[in-house]
Amino acid sequence: MRAASNRIITIANQKGGVGKTTTAINLATALAAIGEEVLIVDLDPQGNASTGLGVDRRDRASSTYDILTNGASVSETAMQTVVPHLSIIPSTMDLLGVELEIAGEKDRIYRLKNAVQADDARRYSYILVDCPPSLNLLTMNAMAAAHSILVPLQCEFFALEGLSQLLETVSRVRDTLNSGLDIQGIVMTMYDARNNLAQQVVEDVRSHLGEKVYRTLIPRNVRVSEAPSYGKPAILYDLKCAGSQAYLQLASEVIQRERSRKAA
Ligand code: ADP
Ligand code: MG
Repeated sequence: MRAASNRIITIANQKGGVGKTTTAINLATALAAIGEEVLIVDLDPQGNASTGLGVDRRDRASSTYDILTNGASVSETAMQTVVPHLSIIPSTMDLLGVELEIAGEKDRIYRLKNAVQADDARRYSYILVDCPPSLNLLTMNAMAAAHSILVPLQCEFFALEGLSQLLETVSRVRDTLNSGLDIQGIVMTMYDARNNLAQQVVEDVRSHLGEKVYRTLIPRNVRVSEAPSYGKPAILYDLKCAGSQAYLQLASEVIQRERSRKAA
């Protein structure tokens, strides 16, 4: 069965530690909780999304490496996670060598696209791609494959630094690899309401980027940072905590934006 529509959203920011993986895991879980079939593609050699969803390294029989190098398909590589309706294509350290391995291949930028836009991927209504912290070939594969990009920004003084480079890359990708690439939105993460600086940063980012910034702020929350060590998303580990509640709210904003896009 084909899903009526299939949305591929790439979660990217070339900075590390800004909340990409946490957002991928919890946004995916929130979407799965309302009955969507969801797939995460782990494109980070660190494999934090895979570990954080309870997929042991020893059980990663196939991975995103096989998609990028051997032409493996989504159905051959996807695994069930601890979350019902949420699957993942895990990553392994082998990904570190991919760039060199496929450097000479003509279609190297489109390897992920070929897999996630194939018919067997249509059983998922949302596919979220968790990127490594760089603008390398892996991230380019993710941008070429996506309908839209979702950018987590940490609420810190240098939040805007690096964002312009990312947005420039997006516009270059639009001109060359993927003319349909949209910006789904920008989510402010690790927000601390007691910190005046954090409030100032949010105001700054909103004044630069306006409506692109989601209304939902993801608070800094210790329960969110504990959850991965239990191999669970925060939403399963502690549904009531402020971080989980914020991710549920973010999911409804994402869905709302998808609906208005479809209506437009
Ligand atoms: P990235 O994927 O961009 O490198 P992560 O999602 O791995 O970033 O987050 C970096 C670190 O910050 C992790 O240890 C994660 O648990 C922690 N973290 C992320 N979001 C929050 C949050 N809202 N509150 C507290 N800790 C967080
Ligand atoms: Mg990560």
